[in-house]
Amino acid sequence: MEQSDFERSVNALLEQQKQGWPLAQANYLGLKQVESRTISFDGFQIQLQFNPERIRSSAAKTDFKSIQQRACFLCADSRPPEQQGVSFGEDYTVLINPFPIFEKHLTIPLNRHSPQEITPYFSDLLDLSRQLPEFTVFYNGPKCGASAPDHFHFQAGNRNRMPVDSEIGPIASRWGELLFKDEKTSITAVGKKYLRKLCYLRSESKEALVFHMDRIRGFLNERGQEGEPMMNLLANYRANQWELILFPRDQQRPRQFFAEGASQILMSPASVEMGGLVILPRKKDFKQLTACDVRDIYGQVSINDADFEELKAKIKQRP
Ligand SMILES: [Zn+2]
Repeated sequence: MEQSDFERSVNALLEQQKQGWPLAQANYLGLKQVESRTISFDGFQIQLQFNPERIRSSAAKTDFKSIQQRACFLCADSRPPEQQGVSFGEDYTVLINPFPIFEKHLTIPLNRHSPQEITPYFSDLLDLSRQLPEFTVFYNGPKCGASAPDHFHFQAGNRNRMPVDSEIGPIASRWGELLFKDEKTSITAVGKKYLRKLCYLRSESKEALVFHMDRIRGFLNERGQEGEPMMNLLANYRANQWELILFPRDQQRPRQFFAEGASQILMSPASVEMGGLVILPRKKDFKQLTACDVRDIYGQVSINDADFEELKAKIKQRP
């Protein structure tokens, strides 16, 4: 695939930061040694990554009081002096995530301190993914894995690193339920056979995606969750169209996260986990996590069956 000038400057930034910023250098080198393990299911995989540096994100306190008491690590004036950035338009700065999950891991904050909410910025997600064809760009809702819910940001990681990037095509053909189709756009639902329920939107038209996302968000709003409907979003641009995966959510963290002693599992699902790459900061969890735990945890954090059926029925009614 052709690299854009923008993507070339992002890659140059990655190289420069890995050389010139000791924290990033150590953590990107460390990533090469992380242990991983695969749990196979019928026609798909969940990959586990043991990554102790991610403890600050997995166990991040994101309640209002904790957020108030810390300096914002995404605001330009409180970022580390070594951290450089590349502008994306006038509104965003592309940064290297110094605690990587991906060989290329970007954090892309808005250039002003404003809360995490997708509505005003959704079309920016599409623009960004189009300009970063080598990456999957993603959004964590404020209660779905964002460790800075007070400062709007996207993230991006190498495409095809999360299992869902390559699985979604075959999985949608096998288990998908077509909810909507016209000449430019299709919306397919995948249910709990894939452990986490999702809507898969494909379109060559940005306007169509903005329209359909708005409509789906309206339906999700009717579920009555406080604030923005809980969700994770993954965006790709390939073969002249966008591919967007929306995971509607019920819980921020599973009950195992809050358990004590041996039954505790520090797994805090965000976009990357919903994409099938599970980050575990503790060795014990990495070694012991079973297929049964994975199924149970996805079941808890995904939208419940009844609400998903209702959502599908609403999407099927033609706009
Ligand atoms: Zn900020």
